[in-house]
Amino acid sequence: MKVYDVIVVGGGPSGLMAAASAGMLGANVLLLDKGNKLGRKLAISGGGRCNVTNRIPIEEMIKNIPGNGRFMYSPFATFNNEDIISFFEQLGIALKEEDRGRMFPVNNKAKSVVDALIRKVNEGNAEIKVNTSVKDVLYKEDRVEGVLLESGEQLLAKSVILAVGGKSVPHTGSTGDGYAWAEKAGHHVTELFPTEVPLISEEPFIQDRSLQGLALREVTLTVINHKGKKVITHDGDLLFTHFGLSGPIALRCSQFVYKVQKQGDVNDVLLTVDIFPSLAAADIEQELLELLKQQPHKMIKNILGQRIPERLLPILFEKAKLAEDRTFHELPKKAFQQFVQLLKAFPIRVHGTRSIEEAFVTGGGVSVKEIQPNTMASKKKQGLYFCGEILDIHGYTGGYNITCALSTGFVAGRHAGLEVTSPLNTN
Ligand SMILES: Cc1cc2nc3c(=O)[nH]c(=O)nc-3n(C[C@H](O)[C@H](O)[C@H](O)COP(=O)(O)OP(=O)(O)OC[C@H]3O[C@@H](n4cnc5c(N)ncnc54)[C@H](O)[C@@H]3O)c2cc1C
Repeated sequence: MKVYDVIVVGGGPSGLMAAASAGMLGANVLLLDKGNKLGRKLAISGGGRCNVTNRIPIEEMIKNIPGNGRFMYSPFATFNNEDIISFFEQLGIALKEEDRGRMFPVNNKAKSVVDALIRKVNEGNAEIKVNTSVKDVLYKEDRVEGVLLESGEQLLAKSVILAVGGKSVPHTGSTGDGYAWAEKAGHHVTELFPTEVPLISEEPFIQDRSLQGLALREVTLTVINHKGKKVITHDGDLLFTHFGLSGPIALRCSQFVYKVQKQGDVNDVLLTVDIFPSLAAADIEQELLELLKQQPHKMIKNILGQRIPERLLPILFEKAKLAEDRTFHELPKKAFQQFVQLLKAFPIRVHGTRSIEEAFVTGGGVSVKEIQPNTMASKKKQGLYFCGEILDIHGYTGGYNITCALSTGFVAGRHAGLEVTSPLNTN
């Protein structure tokens, strides 16, 4: 029976890169995916444009990977964001930089990133099988032996790389199949949770949809824990939806909402929005008073819309107990100061996150404590490797997750390849 050098299970960014990198070393590689196409999640990533990596220094990259970012120092020492940029440019996919260092293909087509990776896999000594679902991973004593397919067929290999992703957006094939195989090998799988996911709120102004579609640009969002302490603040854009909050900063805060809910055993979590993060309350007060003074006989509701999103005004007036038909001359000082305070810390109670299936990323996964960071090899079974989102590593949106998938995939493939092509030289 044929024994492959390396079997890669999963043809997302991590598995494609692992197959390419093992193939580059001359290893005899088999790449299996249960879907009818490779890279299905990659093809819809970044709104179909694929935010493939981020051009910021490594220290900054690590800060943007709140789920075990420090583990990534080692894989990044072998293959990092700049290597990803060169890799794609060598394959004819030029990348461009957008805001906050985000890198996209110049042609804005995620599909071209998928196709380039497949071309690279095909350049190596690799065989690809789609519509081939792996049912189990076979182990013999302290070694991996191969895989068992849903069809009942067994395939043998010297190394197996598990690159089956997490549990998010399961229609792309990521249905969490790998966790049980990891546990069977003796690995610990940390609690799975949704991250980079919209937030649900039962606030009346969300439920009545009065803010639906409102986007606040360059604001900050802060998560407050059950003891009243600030947990995290993110700056950027916030979007009100029919069920709660979305947009980059809501996604970034989502994992902290989940954790505060869990740790405090509470249902609702307080968030505050600073609508003018670069201004102190006193400066806002002065600026608004000057604006009102220019038309002292006009109702404040007809003037403040010049500086504050109009749809927010009725809610702010109500919360500050400030009558909207007041004029500059009749402005109650205390209520106006309260109004200004609300601009600096507008409270929104959220009541959870959307589901793990709807999340951009799965938090938790195969514990990194039992993975060699310089090779991505399992510390439990020889010949077994992990890469990508199956691991307990997760980044914010901004290209960090695909970066982790490509970096860990490259390292896993390289070392699985080295294990068979030059077994004495795997470090
Ligand atoms: C809508 C969306 C947009 C995103 N946009 C971005 C972005 O722009 N930038 C960014 O950095 N991150 C983005 N992400 C996150 C990023 O796409 C993932 O983190 C990344 O795809 C994970 O790669 P992976 O290779 O580990 O797993 P996946 O991409 O999930 O691939 C896993 C593969 O394994 C296969 N598989 C699963 N089980 C089996 C089995 N039993 N047998 C055989 N094959 C199996 C699946 O079919 C699938 O092809 C986005 C995520 C979503 C959902």
